[in-house]
Amino acid sequence: MTQTALADIPPLIADQQVTDPIRRFLTHILNRKEQGIRLVGLYCSYAPVELIRAMDAVPLSLCAVSHRTIPAAEAVLPANLCPLIKSSYGFILTDSCPFFALSDAVIGETTCDGKKKMFELISPLKPIHIMDLPQLPDESEALERWTITVRKLKDFLETTFQVSISDDRIEEEIRETNGKNDLMDRFFSYLGCCPSPVHWREIYDIIGLEHVTTGKEFQDLIEKSSAMLDERIAGGIFFGTSSSPRVLVSGCPVGGDACKVLQIIEEAGGVIVALEACSGMKNYAFRIAENSGDPLRAVAEATLKIPCSCMTPNQARLEMIDRLIDRFKPDVVIDIVLHACHSYNVESHKIMKHIQQRHGLPGLKIETDYSKGDVEQIRTRVEALFEGL
Ligand code: SF4
Ligand code: SF4
Repeated sequence: MTQTALADIPPLIADQQVTDPIRRFLTHILNRKEQGIRLVGLYCSYAPVELIRAMDAVPLSLCAVSHRTIPAAEAVLPANLCPLIKSSYGFILTDSCPFFALSDAVIGETTCDGKKKMFELISPLKPIHIMDLPQLPDESEALERWTITVRKLKDFLETTFQVSISDDRIEEEIRETNGKNDLMDRFFSYLGCCPSPVHWREIYDIIGLEHVTTGKEFQDLIEKSSAMLDERIAGGIFFGTSSSPRVLVSGCPVGGDACKVLQIIEEAGGVIVALEACSGMKNYAFRIAENSGDPLRAVAEATLKIPCSCMTPNQARLEMIDRLIDRFKPDVVIDIVLHACHSYNVESHKIMKHIQQRHGLPGLKIETDYSKGDVEQIRTRVEALFEGL
């Protein structure tokens, strides 16, 4: 099935000089570093970025998604470890991660065992602070414990950077996050159109820019993108047709070399209309209480709602998938599990059963890594899935 090619239509982000999202991000970071801005590296969505921004520092994601550094990492780490951890560690080991090199401090969370132990290996290299994440979010004391942990993060940042982070500045950053999440929600609404005027690469482009723009810049970007998407709709420019399989992609974070699965879905004639993972829509689903009187507790409450598979039970993830299905009307769910990610792997069965029983949707679990070795096997499975719709 032939689809509209992204290269053949005016790009959504026309005024960006650097089109590669990683290079664009690096350029932005280098500019900020030259201005004397401090950088704080992160490995997960649970660390509240509002605290980092409230001391006028920039939060940086350090999760790496390339096969390139995995052989080096496997000299130290076991081969049967999640590729995201191996790739991230490999970049540090080979001193080729500019974001880690530029970070003045690093925040980690006790999410999965592999990451926790990797943090021990990198702790001599940078000031590093580990946040103890409660993993039974429904327990009555979980929020209390996580709020204490968030207060400890504030202490760490204040001590390490010799600053004072005021409640007023955190409140400002809470408003900034909520405003951006509202704008992101407006952009995502175009994915509800059938056929869709948005390409999956454009979702990542917009998410990448959310991290490096101010609230005003991001608002301008969404205004422009919305106008272009309206033009596409008026001009009949869509990705796929109204009969193309609409795909919700769920599971582990997907980026870099793991995007091979998204590319295969596209080449098989599918259109990606929702990305559930924390690399996609998950982080934008929540709002932080404003003017609560205790902004640290407010950010703790919002971040504790993130339905990652490290949580148990993780009913909130099923509810989130329900909302994505109701809103974006997929025909199928493809659950991507990175090799050796046990929590997403075990949870996959529950997700597949839920989408079949509750929504009558077929699903496919794909276990993969960052290599190219399984591309044709994945292609065969995706094509068979679409043929059966
Ligand atoms: S999948 Fe979970 S643990 Fe991994 S980065 Fe996302 S939120 Fe954090
Ligand atoms: S994908 Fe799974 S194993 Fe890998 S870092 Fe995230 S939670 Fe851990």
